Amino acid sequence: MTTTAFPKIDLHLHLDGSLSIPFLKSLALENGLTMTDSEVRNAVTVSSSCQSLPEYLRCFDLPTRLLQTEKSLTLATFDVIQQLENQGLFYAELRFAPQHYTRLGLTQQQTVAAVLNGVNMAKQANLKIRIGILLCMFVTGSPAQNQETAELAVAYQNIGIAGLDLAGPESAVPLSEFETLFHYAYLSDLPFTIHAGECGNYDNISKAISFGARRIGHGCAARFSEECMRLLEREQIVLELCPTSNVQTKAVPSLFEHPIRTFFDRGILVTVNTDNMTVSNTTLDKEYTLLKKHFHFTDDELAKMSRTAALAAFARL
Ligand SMILES: [Zn+2]
Repeated sequence: MTTTAFPKIDLHLHLDGSLSIPFLKSLALENGLTMTDSEVRNAVTVSSSCQSLPEYLRCFDLPTRLLQTEKSLTLATFDVIQQLENQGLFYAELRFAPQHYTRLGLTQQQTVAAVLNGVNMAKQANLKIRIGILLCMFVTGSPAQNQETAELAVAYQNIGIAGLDLAGPESAVPLSEFETLFHYAYLSDLPFTIHAGECGNYDNISKAISFGARRIGHGCAARFSEECMRLLEREQIVLELCPTSNVQTKAVPSLFEHPIRTFFDRGILVTVNTDNMTVSNTTLDKEYTLLKKHFHFTDDELAKMSRTAALAAFARL
């Protein structure tokens, strides 16, 4: 664990992409799959030759298959929170898509309750880290499934759920199809972020802002549009950037072309996050090291990003 002079905060972390290898291995065994550590790792960690977001998303197949019971969801949540506590994080927002865990008959509501039990387990174990949970709608989910997710997020607002998100293969469905659901969240005072301009067009970023998003998941594509970058500045929108993941999904062609330094220097509010600790084989400390080494960010500049993240947190800190 590296200590920093500022609180470490991760606003963009997917639960199912961040499970520890020992936890996944034991869960696999319970499901009749005998796997070695390296077999588990190969199944859930992206290869260095990953060419696209859909390829990256295949690393979620095994965790999704294993997290179909309330007990596994509760323990998975505890497993991730414990890792973050050990890494010295002050606050993290964990997100997950309830509709992915209903294959064996759980309702979305049961998956939410199971994850919140994991958060309570962490509290009872006296872990100090603060946690916010976001529910993800999924781009390729049915309208009914996504509506149910949005309604659950509103119903559980302030009793465990901090906000809403839309995740998945961004370009598969036009973002405009989700306008009504985000409008509903906006009118319900539920904060939300949207994966936009990750591997899709920058138009999705302005569209997400027009829905009322105050944070954008990734938003790397803003670099192609002066107008879009001005909009981010003017509206003080916070970008949840995840440098390692952004290179792996080809949101940016290489680390050197990552726009985080450009965005930061022109005054766009940026934060640094992991996206998926296991899939991307990263931690927040590794991301800080990357930013220092390749973009020459100073501790003061990283502290500024941490302040941005604290102010943009959906849970009350
Ligand atoms: Zn994400």
